[in-house]
This record gives sequence, C-alpha cells and structure tokens, in this order.
Amino acid sequence: MRTAIVVGAGIGGVTAAVALEQCGWQVTVLERAAELGEVGAGISVWPGAAAVLDELGVEGIAKAARLGEAAGMRRWDGRWIVEAAELGIELPVMLHRAQLHQLITDRLGPAVTIHTGTTVTGLTQDADGVTVTATSAAPGGPAFGGRSGNAGSGDAGSGGPASVGTEYRAELVVAADGIRSVVRGVLVPEYKGPRYSGYTAYRGIAEVGVADGGGETWGRGQRFGFAKLIDGRIYWYATSNREAGGADDDVRELFADWHEPIPALLAATPSVLRNDTYDLPTPLLPFVHGRVLLLGDAAHAMTPNMGRGACSAIEDAGALARVLRAGKDLSAYDAERRPATTKLVKRSRQIGVLGQLDSKLACTLRDAVFAAGGKAAGLLAKRRKVEESRV
Ligand SMILES: Cc1cc2nc3c(=O)[nH]c(=O)nc-3n(C[C@H](O)[C@H](O)[C@H](O)COP(=O)(O)OP(=O)(O)OC[C@H]3O[C@@H](n4cnc5c(N)ncnc54)[C@H](O)[C@@H]3O)c2cc1C
Repeated sequence: MRTAIVVGAGIGGVTAAVALEQCGWQVTVLERAAELGEVGAGISVWPGAAAVLDELGVEGIAKAARLGEAAGMRRWDGRWIVEAAELGIELPVMLHRAQLHQLITDRLGPAVTIHTGTTVTGLTQDADGVTVTATSAAPGGPAFGGRSGNAGSGDAGSGGPASVGTEYRAELVVAADGIRSVVRGVLVPEYKGPRYSGYTAYRGIAEVGVADGGGETWGRGQRFGFAKLIDGRIYWYATSNREAGGADDDVRELFADWHEPIPALLAATPSVLRNDTYDLPTPLLPFVHGRVLLLGDAAHAMTPNMGRGACSAIEDAGALARVLRAGKDLSAYDAERRPATTKLVKRSRQIGVLGQLDSKLACTLRDAVFAAGGKAAGLLAKRRKVEESRV
C-alpha cells in the first residue's frame, strides 16, 4: 500500500486524509494540538467544496446547501446597498466549524492513523521518500487510530510509514499545517511569510435565534455579517481596522449604534473570538516540492472576506484525489490549484481594502458604486432567468 503523511489535522488536513485513504493510501496524520477538533464559530461551505465533500461521502452538506437564506449588503444604519435576493446568486451552507470537522473525520477509515500532540519540526526527502521529524508531547502511540485501532507506528513492511522515535517516513507528504506552515519554512526558508491585512476579525455564535436571513453591513473601517447555521443558531463575524496584536475591543461598543439585529446578536453571544487577519503574498509559492505538497492555508492563506479559505483547502484535497486516481504527475495538482487560489487570495484582499475604507467620502462613493453594480447585476440575473425559461 502506498504511504502518505499529512501534517496538520485542520479542515484541510482531515479532508486530505479522507481523500488519500479513498485513493487506497495508508495515511499518518501528525497534529500538534493535544486533541482533534476545531475551535471557532461558523463557517461557510460554498457549492464547490460541498461537491467535493459529497464525492468523499461526507454526508449532509450538499443537501443543506439548498437551505441557504437570502442575504444582502446594508449600510451601518440599515439602509440596503444591495439586496442579494434580487441577484439569484449561489449561497453557501453555514455550519459550526466543529460540526464540519466532525463530519469529515467521521469518514476516516482504518487506513488512517492520527497522532495528536505531535509537532513536526523538519523533513528531508530523497529519491524513495520523505522523512519527517516530530516531537511528541505524549509519546506512546496514537491518540486516534482509525476505525480498527490501527497502531500506526508500523514499519514499511506492514504497509504504514515507519517511525523511529520521532521520525516518520512515507512516499508523500501533504503539508496542511496552516498559514505559519513549518513545512513551507523548511522547503523555502527565504519565503516572506504572512502579511497582516490591517484589520482584525471577531466571531461569535448567538445562542438564540434573534434574527432571520443574514447579510453583511458595511460602515467606516468596520463590517458586520451574520447568517443562520443549519442548527438554527446565528453565526456572526465583524471586522475593525486595528494594529496587529492590539488590545481586545468590546465588540458590543464598537457596533452599539448599528442597525438591528446587530446589537441584539451581540447581546445574545456568550463568548467572542478575535483573530488578526493575514494572507500570503502573491505570487504564491509552487504547491509541489518533490514529494511534498502544500495544501490549504499552508499554500494559499487568504483574508476571510470571501469565506473561501477552508473551502479552498477542501477543493485542494478533491483535486489531489483526482490527480492520484488518474495516475498523473503531482505537478497537475499545482497547475490546477495555484492559479485558482491565487485569484481568490487577490480578490479577497481587494474586497478587504474596499470594505475597510474609513473616510466618509470614500465610503459614500463605495456604497453608491456597489448599489449601482447590484442593480445592474440584478437586471442581468432577471434577464438570464427569462432566457433560461424560454429554452
Ligand atoms: C475570521 C475568519 C473567518 C473565516 N471564515 C471562513 C469561512 O466562512 N469559510 C471558509 O471556507 N474559510 C473561512 N476562513 C478561513 C479558514 O479558517 C482557513 O482557511 C482554514 O481553517 C484553513 O484550514 P487548514 O486546514 O489549511 O489550516 P488550519 O485550520 O490552520 O489547520 C492547520 C493544522 O495544522 C496544525 N499544525 C500547525 N503546525 C503544525 C506542526 N508543526 N506540526 C503538526 N501540526 C501542526 C494546527 O494545529 C492545525 O490543526 C476564515 C478565517 C478567519 C480568520
């Protein structure tokens, strides 16, 4: 059986592990955190990623995608800029991150072994394979061993990657170790890492359903968005122009005079997460380096403005599976995924620049341009529907 190591068990890493296993590979996942899982709040899953998950047999998401509610874009005082209902655009399904992560890990089978509490520190590759070095906080076997208790520390003879102490060996390594990827740093030490966007993000879940629909509201140097999760709770996110690493703000105060249901959602939220937002500079590095490939945020971290980072990681895993099944060279993965994600990184950055404008004049102009663009797009969508109904 062919062997692979996946570094990182975030959404990208676990999806890659499912995909590799379904292609017939034996997979060892090395995860730094003591436990598997995701913190965070909600996450949007767009149709492309939902389709990959569906192909991998992850249940419940493609069907739920049809439940998305109409959203739109408003000014801070509640006046509409664009009502998305008019546009006929595709909507994502919204889940809690922990739920999405669990649904994916539920698909892992006995050929996948996960070692938690295991931090990858380096790797070397030669003609036959890759040796990964790791330090383990809790030595003594895997914390999670596939569906049949696979021990995972077997040698090449038993089909799994060999591990001696803190060394693991496999034919292929998938680096899904996030925006500050250690593996990427080993492969390309001179690479200039993540870039701060200039704004920080806040996220939370309002435990009671105090709102319907969803959408995004743009103000001066601040934005707020919300959407209903498939379990009925409301996920919200907000941004504010800030220095990286600055003191936490009281989000309720920041948005106190914004339109309802924003203050009501904040009042119904027990805890708030804060993350400064970063992306990787473009041009992105190649995603394939010999037998090591980059996936997810390790390859193409983007600002969260389009809600596509995790979706892109899932689509990377789908592309990898197609390449392996077709017996193509790994360079086909880079050729498919790097151009597509480069566009998203750039577009997401541009949206952030517009969304975080803070001068009154610039915001008034921006909102007027978006309103006009929304009307034009609405007319086009209506015309498209009429034409489709004639066919
Ligand atoms: C505010 C915000 C909102 C977002 N909203 C959305 C959204 O709605 N939809 C969407 O698609 N995306 C969204 N994203 C983006 C999304 O969160 C990321 O793109 C996604 O989590 C990337 O997944 P990943 O698996 O590549 O990396 P990560 O989630 O960063 O996972 C990396 C894993 O690797 C582990 N690791 C790191 N280093 C090591 C090491 N040396 N050894 C072993 N393990 C290691 C980490 O512990 C972690 O588990 C959002 C991001 C932010 C900041």
